[in-house]
Amino acid sequence: MSPQHGREATLLPHDVSPPRPDSTAFMCPYCEAVLSNPSAAQCESCLRPLPQKGTPVLRVLFPAGELKISVGQHLVLGRDAGQSPVAATFTQYDNVSRRHSTVWLDPAGTAWVRDEGSTNGTFVNGERLPRGVEAPLRDGDQLRLAADVTGTVQLS
Ligand SMILES: [Zn+2]
Repeated sequence: MSPQHGREATLLPHDVSPPRPDSTAFMCPYCEAVLSNPSAAQCESCLRPLPQKGTPVLRVLFPAGELKISVGQHLVLGRDAGQSPVAATFTQYDNVSRRHSTVWLDPAGTAWVRDEGSTNGTFVNGERLPRGVEAPLRDGDQLRLAADVTGTVQLS
């Protein structure tokens, strides 16, 4: 006759906190423990202080334009507007591939670049990256596409 209050009590409201885009990405940069609180002052696993960078932004300053990459954004560099949203920065360079490399910024504030099988190569400080290998980018690094399209990395 009366409703089953016990069962109703288990119908808790859904968790309304916004889903994380990739919870596994919030890792301690030192011990790679998954962080339950990415903004904590120290890692709960290895107890080392965590980087407190606020919202990091990656910029790459090319002669023909400045690229800005936010955390979580993967930016394809290349000459083909169908492949790269920043193709206009590279259209004047015939030796840059249509889809040349990808740069991104992870939640720990580390910037990365990966060559996408470009014809003339992706270089960090003069060193050619093997195709498909993810290489970290540091503030002040020189990121070069092909022979002479060089951008300066700014990480803040
Ligand atoms: Zn740790």
